[in-house]
Amino acid sequence: MAEPRRPRTRPRFIPPILWMIALGGPIVLTTLMLSPAIDAAAGKASRRLLPVTVGASPSVPVPGGSPTEPPPVSPTLPPAPPRAWAPEPSPTIASTPTPYPFFQEPLPPADGSPRALRVPILMYHYISNPPSGADRFRLDLSVRPSMFEAHLQYLRQAGYETVSLSDLILHLTQGRPLPPQPIVLTFDDGYRDAYEEAFPGLRRYGFQGTFFVLTGRADAGDPRYLSWEQIRQMSEAEMDIQLHGREHIPLSGRDEAFLFYHIIGGKQSIEAHTGRPVRFFAYPSSDYDKNLIRFLEGYQFWGAVTTAYGADERLENRFTWPRIRIRGTDDVEKLAWKLSLLKDPSAP
Ligand SMILES: [Zn+2]
Repeated sequence: MAEPRRPRTRPRFIPPILWMIALGGPIVLTTLMLSPAIDAAAGKASRRLLPVTVGASPSVPVPGGSPTEPPPVSPTLPPAPPRAWAPEPSPTIASTPTPYPFFQEPLPPADGSPRALRVPILMYHYISNPPSGADRFRLDLSVRPSMFEAHLQYLRQAGYETVSLSDLILHLTQGRPLPPQPIVLTFDDGYRDAYEEAFPGLRRYGFQGTFFVLTGRADAGDPRYLSWEQIRQMSEAEMDIQLHGREHIPLSGRDEAFLFYHIIGGKQSIEAHTGRPVRFFAYPSSDYDKNLIRFLEGYQFWGAVTTAYGADERLENRFTWPRIRIRGTDDVEKLAWKLSLLKDPSAP
């Protein structure tokens, strides 16, 4: 794939009206429409928006504001009423005709108490019956819907309550309470069955799922993967939509521009469509290096998950949190056994 041009190069200042005329205005309008969606979800004063130029994220469809949201801010309208927070003033905003913001929310400040968790983070992929002729990889990645239902039933009976990865970070940094038996249910790749099977199943049991999606597949309208409309509905129903990448490609050994396109571009897309922050990343194929971790940390991601086995959540390893892989052959007994291993202090 051709690498995108470096996204953070500042264009020479051109008055916005000339952009709207010269470029037909869609990019400017897109950005203006995006503002209320971002604003609506930004409830905390600690959030900071970093403006960048649109070159980083080509052809990302952006929904308009809903009727309940404030109207888009336009240079020709009077200033918006005061709100609880405001982006930090930056000269870049004034000189960039098409600011394209994304959430930049620092890790909550730690209160100084060292904490460690052993919360199981389960990793699912397909929740569907594998097609006939499926290879062993597809079989291994596919949990049948009836089995998934049995898993959910077991988890509820065993007293587990779902939490998000942000909940774990807030506990580790500030001691925010967690339920007695917390568990995180993650779903990688954003297959269409995440909407058709996982989502309704989770809702039946009052559980939250964390979905690591591929934004390039949604942009392309690939019917095998979640659409933006499905992602938006899931987010509105309190499912946690996080990033797996723009495409499912290894990201170690890449330069800054490449990472910006694939990670920040994907983050912007999800945030534009859901109005909620993307703070966590699941490395495609669990492929990562120090440079990638430094990149994520630099853009204020709170953490990332791998496919390494275990349950060991601390702030120090928050960019390499392990998970428990759920395989197509895992029945309820196997699930219970995997969870019981974590209660053994000698387990990894
Ligand atoms: Zn994956």
